[in-house]
Amino acid sequence: MRRIITLLLAVFMLASVAAIIPAREPAPQQQVQTKEQTVYVTKTGKKYHTATCRYLAKSKIPMSLKDAKTKGYTPCSVCRPPQ
Ligand SMILES: [Zn+2]
Repeated sequence: MRRIITLLLAVFMLASVAAIIPAREPAPQQQVQTKEQTVYVTKTGKKYHTATCRYLAKSKIPMSLKDAKTKGYTPCSVCRPPQ
């Protein structure tokens, strides 16, 4: 009977260790930047741009790529922002 208790205890300890190990592993980092990409639009234009585009000299309104597409903006052919 004592052996069975010892065996059960050993199994229980192994199960506890197995349950702890996955929690110690670092969570995979999510690439949030690709989801919430910021692009820039102008007051009058219908295109969206990257931050460094020369067309942004007059006005530069930041918004998320998703918003720009929702509002009907199309990617600039000069600076080639993400689609
Ligand atoms: Zn541009």
